[in-house]
Amino acid sequence: MSEPILFSDLALSEPVMRAIQKVGYEQPSPIQAAAIPVLLAGGDILGMAQTGTGKTAAFALPLLSRIDTKQADPQILVLAPTRELAIQVAEAFQKYASEIPGFHVLPIYGGQEMTTQLRQLKRGAHVVVGTPGRVMDHLRRGSLNLNNLKALVLDEADEMLRMGFIDDVEWILEHTPKTRQTALFSATMPKEIRNVCNNYLTDAKEIKIASSQSTDANIEQVYWMVSGTNKLDALTRILEVEPFDGMIIFVRTKTATVELAEKLEARGYSASALNGDMNQQLRERTIERLKTGKLDIVIATDVAARGIDVERVSHVVNYDIPYDSEAYVHRIGRTGRAGRSGKAILFVAPREKRLLYTIEKATKKPITLMELPSGATVTKHRIDQFTQQITNALQEQPDLSFFNDLLAEYSHSNDVSPEQIASALAFLLQRERPLQVKFTDVKPERSERRDRDDRGGRDRDDRGGRDRGPREDRPRRERNDENMDRYRIEVGRNHEARPGDIVGAIANEAGIESRFIGHIKLHDEFSTVDLPTGISKDILAKLKKVRVRNRPLEISLDTGPRGGDDFPGRGKPKRDFGPRDGAPREGGYRDGGRDKPRFNDRDNASKKSGYRPKKFD
Ligand code: AMP
Repeated sequence: MSEPILFSDLALSEPVMRAIQKVGYEQPSPIQAAAIPVLLAGGDILGMAQTGTGKTAAFALPLLSRIDTKQADPQILVLAPTRELAIQVAEAFQKYASEIPGFHVLPIYGGQEMTTQLRQLKRGAHVVVGTPGRVMDHLRRGSLNLNNLKALVLDEADEMLRMGFIDDVEWILEHTPKTRQTALFSATMPKEIRNVCNNYLTDAKEIKIASSQSTDANIEQVYWMVSGTNKLDALTRILEVEPFDGMIIFVRTKTATVELAEKLEARGYSASALNGDMNQQLRERTIERLKTGKLDIVIATDVAARGIDVERVSHVVNYDIPYDSEAYVHRIGRTGRAGRSGKAILFVAPREKRLLYTIEKATKKPITLMELPSGATVTKHRIDQFTQQITNALQEQPDLSFFNDLLAEYSHSNDVSPEQIASALAFLLQRERPLQVKFTDVKPERSERRDRDDRGGRDRDDRGGRDRGPREDRPRRERNDENMDRYRIEVGRNHEARPGDIVGAIANEAGIESRFIGHIKLHDEFSTVDLPTGISKDILAKLKKVRVRNRPLEISLDTGPRGGDDFPGRGKPKRDFGPRDGAPREGGYRDGGRDKPRFNDRDNASKKSGYRPKKFD
């Protein structure tokens, strides 16, 4: 890797720099390093980048650096394919503008009360982030004034094309000042998008972040699709059963290195942060401790871990996915040193799937799906550790006569067998870290596995996007609306059905306008969908035969749980595809709430797994 570009090299405005410092970003991602100077200089860009590359900050940071808060009319317009992305982008702007006094950003999307939006627009916003349909509405009504627009960003342009918004996008482009600066981001470059670039971008700098990289053959590469449990819990489960020597865990921010190190330490692991805020001496000391085995786990950012060469690093965990394949290759190259074998584990949120495929393609190595250790596996592991402790204690041949006498006396006077006493003691010993572990949320997302297993060489453009909620511009009825009935359909996640497919099929075949189609909840083998009451038998008969992902819907009124289903309870799904639900489901740093493990011995088995039990005082 060449010398890193720093944020301080990029001439961003003071308040934006302070905000970056606050969120803890250490270094610009490749797309940011390439895009920021061009956008700061007022140029157009065509960025081929997907979610997870840091593309939002790549346009938000430079555009915010040039904002004039005294001008109340919108200066920046971002078009996004879905309301959920619009909200996310607006939130990102808010975050990066946290140090700009008086700054306003406004997300506008279909399904939201028009009157509220009109009022908010009247109040003024420096940045508007909207879905194409709703932005067009406002332009037509004259409620959105783009006369002073300085910059227009088309985010996820290929998604907008796929969702049929491209004409709207062009219409909006036609209705903005020709002097505007334009940035277009797209994960793929179909010819329609290329045409938009040719027609509406001026001397655009093309930025493509993809390079072919090779990885060492002696590194086993696996990924876990973030689902069903949060990342921290998943990590601790892996740490329990995975025999590792030294480990580097990569996260994106300096703050995250510290937070995660603290959480792992609280769980009994010998872990420490390594980030660019630490001075050289402290960093070197941390690496030295890792080298000599005084420390087992280092939680690092890319910058801080640059060039670490520690032979005993047997595992690399990509807790946060890297921005690109180059960073991935660099990260996993921290293991498998000096001819040893290594293992690289990658956490991938559903919306980051596309980045996983990019990495795989660039490294030309398959990354296989791993399942989280089950409760039974963790139990077995803990039992092994426990019995090993007993064996160790007996092998050490300490003088046990005092305890023998004590327990013999107890056994005699209380008339209980030695086994009963031993069981009671074992019970007491494991109370804080039970030997029998049950997880309720271990079920892996089978649909994800299938998605990967049969992907072959097919084009994945329509599958790799974020885990979306329903299409925008569709005001969903409330789930508990009395005018809605809940139906069950026999297609689900395992058949790769998505809410959009279901809405499309029902809307087309039953002639029900999509805005009257209520909440959709995907389960593995089936789904539920809320539809207006009073649907005729004829329509239902028709819908029974309608196919989604080549399976008939077999629609029926939902009557609650059936044998073998994963249905959580009659008519009240825990999660539904409401407006914000497609937002990333990363576990973040939620504390799993588990007790600190504490044993009074450091046995071999536990050492092998990197687990360092705390001593009783
Ligand atoms: P995006 O590709 O815009 O969806 O961003 C993906 C994630 O990367 C978001 O959670 C951002 O907060 C994070 N991110 C963006 N830029 C940086 C950076 N320079 N350093 C660390 N994290 C970043």
